[in-house]
Amino acid sequence: MSDTILRYIPTDPSWQPSPANATKAVSLLETIVPGADEVTSSFEDEIRFYDPGENWSGVKCSACGADAEEWWGEAMEAASASGFKNLMSVAPCCGATVSLNDLRYVWPAGFGRFALEAHNPGIGDTTAEQDRKMAECLEAPLRKIWGQI
Ligand SMILES: [Zn+2]
Repeated sequence: MSDTILRYIPTDPSWQPSPANATKAVSLLETIVPGADEVTSSFEDEIRFYDPGENWSGVKCSACGADAEEWWGEAMEAASASGFKNLMSVAPCCGATVSLNDLRYVWPAGFGRFALEAHNPGIGDTTAEQDRKMAECLEAPLRKIWGQI
């Protein structure tokens, strides 16, 4: 059996909430997924990539829509060498300069230094209203990533 992780990360990869707001957000998420094994928040020193695990469904160029999986790995390695401080990359498909964080991840994924996580939340999905409340609580726009590990 694989584990399901519901994750909220800020849309801005370097942004972090105040510890007080992070604590509030954990409490709020606990009320949304009361059956979860565990709800946690994590602050990271460096930007990392939050992938959806087994839900990974490919990645497309944000400028032209072409399949980006072929060059994505190499671009990730290059960005990783700088601790993901610079996420800009030239897409070989169309020559556009794109942010790795803005690529069209067919199943949502993204970069961040903060994540709010619910382990095995036991629900199909959160509602748009719940997502909005989470963003309000953290005082930042969020990206939701359902992971399967
Ligand atoms: Zn392109």
